[in-house]
Amino acid sequence: MATDNETGPNVALPLREVDPDALKVVRKLLAYGHETYLVGGCVRDLYLRRRPKDFDVATSATPEQIRKTFRNSRIIGRRFKLAHVFFGSKIIETSTFRTTPVATEGDDMLITRDNEWGSIEDDARRRDFTINGLFHDLENNRIVDLVDGIPDLDRGVIRTIGDPTLRFQEDPVRMIRAIKFAARLDFTIEEETWQALLATVGDITKCSRARLLEEVYKLLRGGASRRSFELLIEAKIFPYVLPSYIDLFKERTEVGLVRAQRFPKDEPLPAEYQPSRLFWEFLDALDEYTSQTGQSASNGVLLAILMAPVIDQEWINASRRDLDRTIDATMDALCGPLGIARRDRELARQILMAHRRMVGPTKRRRRPSLVQRQYFHDALVFLGIAVQARGEDDGEFSHWQRLAATVAPMVASEDSPVRGDKRPRRRGGRPRRRSGRSSGSGRSQRAGS
Ligand code: ATP
Ligand code: MG
Repeated sequence: MATDNETGPNVALPLREVDPDALKVVRKLLAYGHETYLVGGCVRDLYLRRRPKDFDVATSATPEQIRKTFRNSRIIGRRFKLAHVFFGSKIIETSTFRTTPVATEGDDMLITRDNEWGSIEDDARRRDFTINGLFHDLENNRIVDLVDGIPDLDRGVIRTIGDPTLRFQEDPVRMIRAIKFAARLDFTIEEETWQALLATVGDITKCSRARLLEEVYKLLRGGASRRSFELLIEAKIFPYVLPSYIDLFKERTEVGLVRAQRFPKDEPLPAEYQPSRLFWEFLDALDEYTSQTGQSASNGVLLAILMAPVIDQEWINASRRDLDRTIDATMDALCGPLGIARRDRELARQILMAHRRMVGPTKRRRRPSLVQRQYFHDALVFLGIAVQARGEDDGEFSHWQRLAATVAPMVASEDSPVRGDKRPRRRGGRPRRRSGRSSGSGRSQRAGS
């Protein structure tokens, strides 16, 4: 909530935390006579005194009017038409107020078109959760709350706007979004919303593979991946979003992927539970990386993290050829059904192959030329996370971090198939070691709710 004892729509938001370019967009549209607000996640996060990931604007101006107001803008989307206003590489998403669209024919409530313009009230009601349906009125620095979102923010509750079953049927991706926000904000999913979610999970199969995969990546890099995945399992959504991953675990162990809470207490861990434990430890380490560095891991690192518990430790001693084969076979099983991009898959393979060299026993493997590979940064991030997850000594990580600092800047490698990857390079970071390990202590979102 906004402060310890002040809540409600009249609480001023900290405007110095608002992106100056987003403020420019709002001010200019207001000056041209269009009703305009900051909206959605940024208002929610500013109210909670969290740093927003991005700033979205909602306005009465049509996409064409927005386009004409800003030379640095472009209209995008067909299913959901809106304008992007560019400031260098930054984009301020600016969308026109729209109504809840009429569902397509038949009993199927899935929304496929969403371009009916409307009022601010309509626009609030078509949003997914009450906490995401808030607008910020810049002229008066106050929140416009037409969906009772502020009481839910104060109570820490995720609740759909309107009938939850209908809202999940309209767009099943909202179920994964509910889990994402519950995990990330440490909120509880309100009972009616939760029951509707449990009853509607099967609809997830209607979502496109690409959207589902994107949501999975967001869960992984959101800083609360462990809790997100616990919730995915609890809601029985996991088999719909990562079916091939579940199968891989089943092939590898009799017990499949086991929830952290189910590990036998005070007993040595049976072999069949090891991959599951490693899975949760990797997610813990990933979350620490995200929160401590403020950076988000690449898709390649995320895939390597998913792969690591499945291919397990033997890979480090395997010959290069055997490891390559194991990775290929595992990737084939995992990536095809999920529609994973070839480029991400290739980066994950490079990270895992580099990992073997980075932790390998011989000096030959420690050749500094590795530092100059384009994938080195990702391999270093993965190494930091892996060392943390396995509770290992971080000597190797420090070694490679030192090399990275002394060897000439990375250059595109001749053999790198990820050429053309224009992501800015960042220095590797490793989450700080925790004193106590937290296996099995993840609190379920539903506990006590
Ligand atoms: P994040 O911090 O992850 O960016 P966000 O709430 O800003 O969270 P976005 O995906 O950026 O989420 O979407 C911006 C806003 O658009 C949301 O706050 C919500 O109001 C609305 N929105 C996004 N996806 C949906 C959806 N599937 N159904 C209804 N409204 C949605
Ligand atoms: Mg957002």
